[in-house]
Amino acid sequence: MFLESRGIILYILIIILLLVAGDLMAEDILLLTINLEKEPFSPLAKDLEKTFEKKTKLEEYNLDISFSYNYKRGQFHSSSILNRLKDIFATEDIILGILDVDLYVEGLNFIFGEAQPLNRIAVISVKRLRQEFYGLSEDKDLFYQRILKEAVHEIGHIFKLSHCPNPKCVMHFSNSLRDTDIKDFRFCPICERRLNIK
Ligand SMILES: [Zn+2]
Ligand SMILES: [Zn+2]
Repeated sequence: MFLESRGIILYILIIILLLVAGDLMAEDILLLTINLEKEPFSPLAKDLEKTFEKKTKLEEYNLDISFSYNYKRGQFHSSSILNRLKDIFATEDIILGILDVDLYVEGLNFIFGEAQPLNRIAVISVKRLRQEFYGLSEDKDLFYQRILKEAVHEIGHIFKLSHCPNPKCVMHFSNSLRDTDIKDFRFCPICERRLNIK
């Protein structure tokens, strides 16, 4: 009887320890503006903090990314940049790098962003999110909405969410900017539920 209750107390202590450790290990989001001033991205840091309920730090980081440049394509190889960032920032935090260069991966003409969920790191580029890129006049609000959607989408991948068939859901795959404009910056109820489980 005595041994049994000691066992229960030990069990409860282990559970408390696990809960405390889990809280200590709760990661933050590190938003890195790569070769870009961080100030314009303060609203994004706030919105990401609200969306994922995680402390979001905003930092500027200068990185020579010429190693990832493909002269034939005139674009930067996104996966190489992710690998380099992963080596530089050995952290438990979730990292989202923001760049202003044209990104690609093999098999696609261009990408808005890429995530490596296992390494808990992602990048997005704002290059193709500006109206000016398409010869249209500047629209700051639309530009920001697009950045927010792409950022939430890539961090969603880090939380192990895959692409969602719902075109209004932020996890819907953007083949073109039109897809980005159609979707919301929020998760659909199904993705939201999956996100909360993790
Ligand atoms: Zn995606
Ligand atoms: Zn969804």
